[in-house]
Amino acid sequence: MSKTQPKTIKKSVNKTTRKTTKSAPIEMLSRNFSKSELSCNCGECEPIISDILVTRLQSLRDICGHSLSINSGYRCPKHNKAIGGAPNSMHTKGIAVDISTSGWGADKLHRFLSLAFSLGFNGIGIASNYFHIDVRSVAAMWKYNE
Ligand SMILES: [Zn+2]
Ligand SMILES: [Zn+2]
Repeated sequence: MSKTQPKTIKKSVNKTTRKTTKSAPIEMLSRNFSKSELSCNCGECEPIISDILVTRLQSLRDICGHSLSINSGYRCPKHNKAIGGAPNSMHTKGIAVDISTSGWGADKLHRFLSLAFSLGFNGIGIASNYFHIDVRSVAAMWKYNE
């Protein structure tokens, strides 16, 4: 009995040597979201990022079909305090993101937030140039006083 085997296994002969400026490879948490974009902006702490958040965020991204600009994901308590975040901010639990809405109209924002709510983003906060969504268990909606 003989199995058909490929004659040669092509090793990547044309491997181009690229100069990389970044020392670490980009670690993806889902198809479109990297660990770094959902990490704390202090750049020092190890982030806590909820799997549920990532899954729902990816669903949102898949349905809306365009890229999302994350202003803030996880925040360590220290950084959260430094930027004046709410003491028990959902960001410190790794279940929240703030997404930029610069250039979005009211229709787009409304469609997007309706979709987010239907996907289980129970916490929704609206500011003039971004919105906050989180995966808390009990629904809450608010507007930021800016
Ligand atoms: Zn931090
Ligand atoms: Zn937020």
